[in-house]
Amino acid sequence: MGNRKKKVIEREHAHYLDEARSLHTIYILLPYCYGVGCEDSPDSGAPGFHMLGELNPLDLGRLTVLEKGQKWCGVVLETSFGKDVVRRMGEIAENLGIVIRFIQVSMVRAQEPSARAVAFLDFSNAIVTPEEALELVSKQEFVKKARIIYPSETGVLSDDYFFPLVLDKERIVVFRRRTYESLFKGIRERFGTAGEVMLYYVGFNIGYQTYSDYASIVGSEKPEAIVELAKTFLRTMGWGIVDVVEMDLERGIAQVRVYESFECEIGRGGEAAYGHFSRGLVAGFFTRLFDREVKVVETMCVAKGDPFCEFTIRA
Ligand SMILES: [Zn+2]
Repeated sequence: MGNRKKKVIEREHAHYLDEARSLHTIYILLPYCYGVGCEDSPDSGAPGFHMLGELNPLDLGRLTVLEKGQKWCGVVLETSFGKDVVRRMGEIAENLGIVIRFIQVSMVRAQEPSARAVAFLDFSNAIVTPEEALELVSKQEFVKKARIIYPSETGVLSDDYFFPLVLDKERIVVFRRRTYESLFKGIRERFGTAGEVMLYYVGFNIGYQTYSDYASIVGSEKPEAIVELAKTFLRTMGWGIVDVVEMDLERGIAQVRVYESFECEIGRGGEAAYGHFSRGLVAGFFTRLFDREVKVVETMCVAKGDPFCEFTIRA
């Protein structure tokens, strides 16, 4: 291999390692405690208002960079679906001195006969090798398929089994902060206020369409049910924690708070509200909900130092 080619590979490799490391640590960098002065808020008695305590970051796992000497490896399993499978697998691991550091089971839907899982196992104090453990596991009558995932030479251990990611049968992708930050900031930096307008309209279309999607998921046109589902989705997908402080369908007004907005967080240190995409989302969603045009203003924003983002909606 030529020197030049080798250097390119090394550089790409270093980049990959760097990516993997930051993926591993990004959750640690998240603020664990949210210092909102909710108790003093005049709206704290409003329906639906909640106080945020400590956040509980979820490390999605599936990829880790091992430290030197860490004896981890992964395993992919396909098992029949039974009520004591998890317990029996846990027992086997415990008896062999294996510590399960991570396990993810793809959601098993009704009528599905088998479950698929990936796990990262710590063999530091194990009394068997990974190969011996695999042999033992494969002999269990509930195990249909079992395979070991070895870390790469550079210590990257990753789930090379599950692909693509799906939620409710629809494909999803995960962006790390540095990716979506580049995307959102890049549009602003390159196109200025025109970029902000663009983000607003993109958000608007998504919000508008999403309302219909959620209505079909809950099987109802009842606004309260659709709003609840929207809040659930936004939180579960990591976009932010939404609190509807006020919603009056007849008068066509609403007030929505967003804590930990993924969009506005990247604009911290600024002087103006930053959530143009979010404002569009809210506008599109409430245009459908109120069934008339709305005007949305982001009155408070974490980007300019407020404890949360707040949107006022008026038809
Ligand atoms: Zn904001």
